Amino acid sequence: MRLREEFAFIGVGSNLGDRLGYLQDAVDLLELDARTRVDAVSGVYETEPVGGPEQGPYLNMAVRVATRRSPRRLLGVCARIEARLGRVRRNQGGEDRWGPRTVDLDILLYGRRRVRRPDLVVPHPRLCERAFALVPLIEVAPGMALPDGTSLATALARIAPVEGVRAVGTQVRLPASRVAP
Ligand code: ADP
Ligand code: MG
Repeated sequence: MRLREEFAFIGVGSNLGDRLGYLQDAVDLLELDARTRVDAVSGVYETEPVGGPEQGPYLNMAVRVATRRSPRRLLGVCARIEARLGRVRRNQGGEDRWGPRTVDLDILLYGRRRVRRPDLVVPHPRLCERAFALVPLIEVAPGMALPDGTSLATALARIAPVEGVRAVGTQVRLPASRVAP
């Protein structure tokens, strides 16, 4: 089955080691997937950890991809990238959940689709509570709305004032194959 290309939005976060390097590697590895191309990247934000154990600040960004993967397959691509970049997953709901990680890739939106499966919920279930996800997402999804029609800008206004999200003033490079000659 050949799926039509669709836009999906992936939130990437890192709070261990070479954080910016992990964001760059995640973007490069998304591009490497044969059925996915990186279309745009947001700026990089330094953000205070939310929930979970005591841990250092994150770098977060959002990526717009055009993909022929189904939502579940795209989640598989994300999980493989996390594994390759050294994230160790412990038991579901265990100490790894919301704990420090080299890299975390979440599917924030997949077009205007809704997915509700045990292992995948799209839009990401905590998107509208997380300024660290919404702020970069809006950069690469201007004018986008959630499946219920709420604009991202409205969703962000609902959690104002936004605290603990600071633009670092840098961007990861678009993968080389995407840079115009
Ligand atoms: P979080 O991203 O909330 O900090 P994890 O990265 O530990 O938590 O995610 C745990 C599980 O969440 C994943 O194994 C995945 O199956 C599930 N999950 C559900 N919906 C999504 C989504 N939209 N994007 C990524 N993972 C998701
Ligand atoms: Mg995750």
